[in-house]
Amino acid sequence: MRVQSHFMFLLVLVLFSVAGVWRLSSLPDLQVFGEIKSQAMISEKVVALTFDDGPTPDKTNQILQILAAEEVPATFFLIGQEVQQHPQLVRQILAAGHQVGNHSFSHQRMIFKSPAFVAGEIEQTDKLLRDSGVDGVIYFRPPYGKKLLVLPWYLMKHHRVSVTWDVAPENFPKIAKDPQALVDYTVQQTKPGSIILLHVMYDSRQATMQAVPQIIRQLKAQGYRFVTVHELLKLEQAP
Ligand SMILES: [Zn+2]
Repeated sequence: MRVQSHFMFLLVLVLFSVAGVWRLSSLPDLQVFGEIKSQAMISEKVVALTFDDGPTPDKTNQILQILAAEEVPATFFLIGQEVQQHPQLVRQILAAGHQVGNHSFSHQRMIFKSPAFVAGEIEQTDKLLRDSGVDGVIYFRPPYGKKLLVLPWYLMKHHRVSVTWDVAPENFPKIAKDPQALVDYTVQQTKPGSIILLHVMYDSRQATMQAVPQIIRQLKAQGYRFVTVHELLKLEQAP
C-alpha cells in the first residue's frame, strides 16, 4: 500500500516535470542559450509579418499576390523538404522582395533530439535555401516554437539567431477559424517592433489567407509600416 502511494507520488511528479519542460520549451521569448528574438525593442511603428511552412504551389502564389497588391514585404520561414520539391517557389518569393528563413528540414519538434539530428535539419535546409538563391543572413525558426537545450546550443555555437514571434492569433482555436477575429486580435495585440506569426500554406488556413489584406490595411491605417524581420532587427541596433 505504502509502496503504491509512493509510486503514485513519483508518477505525478514526473508527469508535472514533463509538462513543465514541455511548456518551458514553448515559451516564445525564452531560450537557455543563444540569441532569440520574439520582437524588436523599438518605439517606431514598424512591424514584421511572418509566414511559416511551405512553400506550397497554390498558396505561395496567392499570398505573393496579396502582398504585392498591398505593397508590403514579409518573411517566409520555409521547410527544407518542401523547398527541395519547389525550389522555384523560393526564387519567386525572393524575386518579390521578401525574406526567407530556415524552418528546419522535416518540421519535427526539436526537443529530445540528438545534436546530429539538429545539425542535419538546419544545415540541409540552409543548403537548399542557398541553392535556391537565398543570400545574406538566414534566421532560424524552430518548428512549433519548440526548443530546449540541444537546438539552442547548436544555434549559439554557430552564431545563429532564432526568430519567434510576439503575436500569434492562430494559437486560439476560436480565433483561428474566423477571419474577422484574426484581424481584430492581430491589430489589438500588435505593438511597435512586433513579429506576427501567420500560416497560409495549407487549405486548413483559409481563414488566415482571407484575413491578411485586412490585417495589413488596418495596421497601415494605425500608422504601421511593414518590413522584413532582418530590417526590423536592424532598426533595433540603430543608434
Ligand atoms: Zn511550422
